[in-house]
Amino acid sequence: MNNTLALIKPDAMQKGFKDKIRKDIMENGFVIVEEKTLNLSIEQAEGFYAIHKDKPFFGELVEFMTSNETHIMKLEKENAVVEWRDLMGATNPAEAESGTIRAKYGTDISMNATHGSDSNENAEIEINFFFKDL
Ligand code: GDP
Repeated sequence: MNNTLALIKPDAMQKGFKDKIRKDIMENGFVIVEEKTLNLSIEQAEGFYAIHKDKPFFGELVEFMTSNETHIMKLEKENAVVEWRDLMGATNPAEAESGTIRAKYGTDISMNATHGSDSNENAEIEINFFFKDL
């Protein structure tokens, strides 16, 4: 079994998609091991997305990620990182395969409903970022 970090981002929370996305996650064989809802501080959003700090969209990304609550989940499944990214679909909802979460619930390349770790190594770092005190 492997773990990954999943976020339901502020756009999807604002639109009331949290329960639908959690249902999709569980119906696809993931176990939600730990979860909590937070309104990210600027420091948390900047820290979480530090890898993107030199990108032109960084300011917009931090503003978006602090605009409303985020639901944070540690997921477990065999091959969890790849399986969750497959279920989310492409970063840009307009390019995401139909039936994927970003195709169903995303708005645009910034407000794309969910986050998923991109490697086992980053999954461990990102899970520790939000759940290290548990
Ligand atoms: P992910 O791993 O699929 O989430 O994609 P990335 O790591 O490339 O980007 C991280 C997040 O930054 C994305 O999920 C989007 O919310 C945001 N993002 C990515 N590209 C753009 C962009 O070109 N413009 C804006 N405004 N946001 C972007």
